[in-house]
Amino acid sequence: METAAVECAKCECCGLVEDCTRDYILGVRAAFGGRWLCGLCSEAVRDEAARTTTKTKTTTAAAGMEAALRDHMAFCGKCRRSPAFRVADGMRQMLRRCSK
Ligand SMILES: [Zn+2]
Repeated sequence: METAAVECAKCECCGLVEDCTRDYILGVRAAFGGRWLCGLCSEAVRDEAARTTTKTKTTTAAAGMEAALRDHMAFCGKCRRSPAFRVADGMRQMLRRCSK
């Protein structure tokens, strides 16, 4: 059995670094216009995009996704400056295996 190649991917929203298979990374990038999002962020963006597209009938799925992505990135930018986020970020630094 062949082992899937694992690569590091960094979330464009919250900066989380995860080890993922290449296929998974490419799949996420394809869904979000070339950006890679972590599991939490991609779920939030997909949710928001689904809400936007059903709410505003004029919005295409792709446009809804872009808008949701922008909103979520702005939201994550705000979180990043909060003390609670910095604690979580410190935890991640500790757990990170990709920096070398
Ligand atoms: Zn994220």
